[in-house]
Amino acid sequence: MIKSIRARLTLWYVAVFSVILAVSGFVVFSRLAESRYQQLDSRLELADRVLAASLKHEIEEHEGKAPGEASFRSVLVTIHQLTFPAQAVTIVQDGRKVGLKPNLGGRTISDDALHARRGGSWSEHGWRYSALQVDLRQHGTYLFVAGESELDTEHDVAALRRTFLLGVPIAVFLSALGGYWLARKSLAPVVVISQTVESITSRNLERRVPILNPGDELGLLSQTFNRLLERLGHAFEQQRRFMADASHELRTPVSVAHTATEVTLEQPHRTEGEYREALQIIDGQLKRLRRVVEDMFLLARADSGAVPLRWSKFYLDELLVDTAKAARVLGAQRDVDVDVEPMCEALCCADESLVRQMAMILLDNAVKYSQPEGRVTVRLRCGPSDYEIFVEDTGPGIPEEHRPFIFDRFYRVDTARSRASGTSSGAGLGLAIARWVAEAHHGTLRLESTGPSGSVFCATLPAGHSTRRNEIS
Ligand code: ADP
Repeated sequence: MIKSIRARLTLWYVAVFSVILAVSGFVVFSRLAESRYQQLDSRLELADRVLAASLKHEIEEHEGKAPGEASFRSVLVTIHQLTFPAQAVTIVQDGRKVGLKPNLGGRTISDDALHARRGGSWSEHGWRYSALQVDLRQHGTYLFVAGESELDTEHDVAALRRTFLLGVPIAVFLSALGGYWLARKSLAPVVVISQTVESITSRNLERRVPILNPGDELGLLSQTFNRLLERLGHAFEQQRRFMADASHELRTPVSVAHTATEVTLEQPHRTEGEYREALQIIDGQLKRLRRVVEDMFLLARADSGAVPLRWSKFYLDELLVDTAKAARVLGAQRDVDVDVEPMCEALCCADESLVRQMAMILLDNAVKYSQPEGRVTVRLRCGPSDYEIFVEDTGPGIPEEHRPFIFDRFYRVDTARSRASGTSSGAGLGLAIARWVAEAHHGTLRLESTGPSGSVFCATLPAGHSTRRNEIS
């Protein structure tokens, strides 16, 4: 089996071309050979007709058969000999030879040929004959037999055959060369593409496949490759950033705990209060570390699709009221009120614990970023096909340049502020997790509005079946 596409293409091309050439060559050759023999027949037929007209003319002019025939015989060997040099002609009437003319080589029509036919054309012993009967009424019927050697015609046909037999292989050979050159030329971009793709590694993902001809199929292939490389580059970049951010987030609490331990152990004796203080610092950092690790673990599992959603029916309005109660405790520490506006009855089919986590992240952020004496409001809008949860705060808002990135992992607008308090990690993973929860339920999470007087986040979730509250098991 031939592996190279170039060689296969060339072979196919040569095979198809050879068949076409052989068939068309055979047809052309046959037609040409046939027309040569037709020309020979036409010449003989012409000789018969001209001579018949000449005999008729001579008889009519001399007003008698015998003087007419005699005059014709002299015209035959003079004028007609010059007009039809290659043809031998014999004219007979009832077995009597009226006249004859040899060809240039001196050959005359044999007696066998004279008796062979009464009309039409035929071949015999390398000669071609044509016979024509002409009825001159009271002067009787004459038979004109013209003959010519087939040698010249055979030579012509043989020369034609030689030309074809030699020409076809030469044409096939040239077509093979041309086909190989064409295949090489058209597949050259594939070689360039594969060499470029081969040389691309995770370290030079910014390289691109050259687009030699943007309009053709290989140009499209190069563009597809480049788009793939762009996506890969983007994914790698995200991965790199994630690794850098993750290691930074993990290193900080570890080094704080380490420093606290070292400082405490520097002195051989410490008071119980000093030990307690050090342990509290270490405990705080370990909690923070645990939260970051848990959040990262959840996102990593979410990315690989390994978080199975535990679907159940519950009332979203009840869940929001519960979450708001928990947020109220956090709010009390920061003098922030958490209000819940009256809600519709909202049956929801989703993973209750994940939806609770999402709501908690939004409420926690709202409390965390609100100014003291601020207010957080939770609203629920029940649409025909989905529910919209609005969490509104009276915080400082999110500056415009940060808005596109707040849902990115480890993205924080103000790192000092976000570590201040709260149940979420404060590592910039909260909104990424909340958005994943919404999207895993075929919903959305967006920043509805933001400004100096506060921000509104809106999460949508598809509505469940309209079962009454007391029908839920
Ligand atoms: P974090 O755990 O740091 O809060 P998030 O992913 O929850 O991380 O939020 C990302 C960033 O978005 C936060 O650092 C914060 O700057 C900004 N942010 C989130 N919610 C609010 C809000 N309600 N008001 C103002 N800024 C917010």
